[in-house]
Amino acid sequence: KRKYLIAGNWKMNKTAPDGVELIKGILAEIGTQTEVGVAICPPFTALESAAKALSEANNIQLGAQNMHPEPDGAYTGEISASMLRTFYVSYVILGHSERRQYFGETDAFINQKVLASLENNLKPILCVGETIEQREAGQTLAVIEEQVKGGLAGVDKKHAESIVVAYEPVWAIGTGKTATPEMAQEVHAAIRKMLADVLGAEAADKIRLLYGGSMKPANAAELLAEKDIDGGLIGGAALEAKSFAKLVEAA
Ligand code: 13P
Repeated sequence: KRKYLIAGNWKMNKTAPDGVELIKGILAEIGTQTEVGVAICPPFTALESAAKALSEANNIQLGAQNMHPEPDGAYTGEISASMLRTFYVSYVILGHSERRQYFGETDAFINQKVLASLENNLKPILCVGETIEQREAGQTLAVIEEQVKGGLAGVDKKHAESIVVAYEPVWAIGTGKTATPEMAQEVHAAIRKMLADVLGAEAADKIRLLYGGSMKPANAAELLAEKDIDGGLIGGAALEAKSFAKLVEAA
């Protein structure tokens, strides 16, 4: 059985000191022992202080929100895998729809990042999802197949346990509109089949599939009860200690 993962994506929120306060609040709610996997993904500038604030808490792992595929060099404004590793980062969100939409990230570029993350012992959280126009045009699964297969091209199945895929329908992000558990499960099952096509059934069975998009304490339990939903990638509800803790409890 796959271990649940509840991951908070803070996006461009929280200064370093505000991040430490939030972490203290989360630890006050959930303690330092948790059965499910928990990760928080602060902005780069809050990673070092977050790592310090988490030094006694082995139950929460750190993630970054992006990464450049090259190890170093003339890439102004970018951050490499080894830079993240020095802050004890375990996960890295790659190909979030906001990066695809506002920063023009393509499947090919995201694929380079996925390969670089795995080479550097970072666990990629590859984000995929359709827009409302694509859903209404009946293109959901075709769009997702391109993103999943494009993002994971050339990945070795030995990494299956390190790979996380997050299904985040773009129309559900920050809108308060959640996919119904049935809608989400349908896409998750399809993603697992796509993964089996590329990496084999055994590897596909090990990969955790998270749902993201207006996930909150009120709707988490029913989403997490679905067979192929192995956790959540949470934006807004991860910015407040009590609601994030409730999501951890729901898993
Ligand atoms: P919300 O939970 O705010 O809808 O954001 C979801 C998301 O984009 C997580 O990566």
